[in-house]
Amino acid sequence: MGLGLLSGWGLRDDVGMRAVFLWVLIGFGVASVGKAQGLRNGPMPTAAEAMGSLVGLSEVQRAAFEADPTLFERIRKPEPGDWLAAHAEPGQTVEEYRKVLAQVKPRPAQKSLAILPLGTFGDKAPDLETLRSYCAAFFAMETRVLPGVVLDKVPAKSRVNRNTQNRQLLTTDILKWLPGMKPADCYALIAVTMEDLYPDEAWNFVFGQAMLQGGVGVFSFARYDPAFYGEAAAEGDGELMLRRSGKVLTHEMGHMFGMRHCVFYECLMNGSNHLGETDSRPMHLCPVCLRKLQLAAGFGVLSRDMGLLKFYEKESFKAEADWMRRRVMKLAGVE
Ligand SMILES: [Zn+2]
Ligand SMILES: [Zn+2]
Repeated sequence: MGLGLLSGWGLRDDVGMRAVFLWVLIGFGVASVGKAQGLRNGPMPTAAEAMGSLVGLSEVQRAAFEADPTLFERIRKPEPGDWLAAHAEPGQTVEEYRKVLAQVKPRPAQKSLAILPLGTFGDKAPDLETLRSYCAAFFAMETRVLPGVVLDKVPAKSRVNRNTQNRQLLTTDILKWLPGMKPADCYALIAVTMEDLYPDEAWNFVFGQAMLQGGVGVFSFARYDPAFYGEAAAEGDGELMLRRSGKVLTHEMGHMFGMRHCVFYECLMNGSNHLGETDSRPMHLCPVCLRKLQLAAGFGVLSRDMGLLKFYEKESFKAEADWMRRRVMKLAGVE
């Protein structure tokens, strides 16, 4: 297929209301994933083994990657229907991540991330400038919103979903077109839309799909709006939409940085089988995943956390701001 590493999730038509996830791994993913899934010797590593040695790191980095139980919760046992109840995931240690790092580390010219809006973003949509500033803080990389493309100009097949009667766009067509839309200085380009998506005729819908090796992906926020499911508008819908959209953008871009699903802590990089699981997943990375992202993106851990704290305070994400404030106090104390 030549699509590189492909990921997405949604519902197939033939399985009723049970969520089925698409996780197709092609290209460079095969070797590392095959090794991690099938050929790793011995039992599942512990969180400490997944982190590996911190010798040689600065004091602030060691504090940042410490398994501090006042900040990080070990992963909970999955409930029936949760991602890990349905998927035997191997996890990915920092050592295993280092093996893909050469392929996923941004090249010096790839200084930025970009968000490309497709179609209209009405008053139910998350604010793109807010999402932009969240991605910029999360990855500590310049992030910009590209001029939007009207749907007529998006070369993708569409259909009307027979259950919802909503228009849907074919993700694979969008993924073929996106690499040509990616600015040369861009590490990853994520197209976002309020249109519903489907990856294949056999599927009812998909939340999104990414071509990881090409650094492009497309994600729909349509189903993050409670109104999509016929629920009456409620106070807090806007914040819920923003939280869900921010999580999906950073989680999926995390995959673009070569990070696999986290099985060690409650973490943004946990797999998710349904919206309830997405909602309960934290917005922060666990120490293991943070260390991977730091290796790829090269940011200072304290300055990144301070940037995120500023964002959470500005957007009144109270729980996240409180968490990040404790975190910043801890790291600033050792600097
Ligand atoms: Zn994922
Ligand atoms: Zn993690």
